[in-house]
Amino acid sequence: MTPPQFKIVLAEAFDPQAVEPLKELGDVVQLTSCDEASLIEAVPACDALLVRTYSEVTSKVIEKADKLKVIGRGGVGLENIDIESAQDRGIAVVYAPEAGTNAVADLAIGLMIGLIRGIGAGDRFVRAGEFQSGRKVTPAAELRELTLGIIGMGRIGRAMGRRCRNGFGMNVLYNDIVEPGWLDMSAESVSKEELYQRADVLSLHVPLTEDTRHLIQSDSLSKMKRGAYLINTSRGQVVDSEALAKCLNDGTFGGAALDVFDPEPLPKGHPLLEAPNTLFTPHVGARTRCAQQGMNAVIDDVVRVLKGKSPNFPAPRQQQ
Ligand code: NAD
Repeated sequence: MTPPQFKIVLAEAFDPQAVEPLKELGDVVQLTSCDEASLIEAVPACDALLVRTYSEVTSKVIEKADKLKVIGRGGVGLENIDIESAQDRGIAVVYAPEAGTNAVADLAIGLMIGLIRGIGAGDRFVRAGEFQSGRKVTPAAELRELTLGIIGMGRIGRAMGRRCRNGFGMNVLYNDIVEPGWLDMSAESVSKEELYQRADVLSLHVPLTEDTRHLIQSDSLSKMKRGAYLINTSRGQVVDSEALAKCLNDGTFGGAALDVFDPEPLPKGHPLLEAPNTLFTPHVGARTRCAQQGMNAVIDDVVRVLKGKSPNFPAPRQQQ
């Protein structure tokens, strides 16, 4: 008996070797654009849709998906997929929640140290031939003197907390809407208000939801310690970037290190690009070999669903 010939659409780039198992199940089509209009055009004949960060899998896309059995998200953030609409139509949504955990926590640490120790600025002084001027900086704090506040004590938040507490001796506070259970580090659960007041460094590890959109805006920023630092490796829209730029410019905030932006990428002339004490990376939190390989786990789950088996990592109905 010949196996069923499915049509499988890759809306964004996946590792060519990792998609080989999909080719045994049918035709694999690579799209060149993953906006809503391109997906609306592609989905009617499609059995499986694989996406990453930038595909817009809206309710309008899902309405056109007459044959779609599974949507696979190579990554952890699910805000670009209308999960409820998909699940209401019986379409499985699977993802790779564990793939980027260590990679993102490592980058958050790099950004934190880079910001506090002025590594980006130091690099520019050396290259500009201003070596001695670059040494005339206000002495920085050591990490062990500082309190880290983590919002979102999930997989990445815990990995960040563990590194900062057990590795660097930082004092760790956290806030989550769900009790994280046993932690392999010493850390204190506090309200958001208390965290804003006590943290020297605020690190964001929440998903983008209606509750976390612009969680950090002028009001929350005004509650933070003068000279505090912000690290954001979660999603750009969790922070009001105009309000952040204002606090950096008026000196009330110590600095910000960001891997994610709103909008992403920031347009030329955006106030954050001119703000002082910033360190930026272009959304590369999960760009490590291990993390990219880990994302391929979603392909296994897509294969499982197409073969009528239960997936290992079904998406929660609504991301908290
Ligand atoms: P996770 O689901 O394990 O943890 C998220 C935590 O946030 C959960 O414990 C949840 O209860 C908590 N949370 C949700 N809403 C909250 C709120 N309003 N207040 C306080 N806590 C709240 O997810 P994770 O694997 O740790 O990933 C976190 C986020 O990191 C992802 O959703 C994604 O947006 C982002 N991410 C970024 C990159 C990157 O390249 N920079 C890569 C991977 C993930």
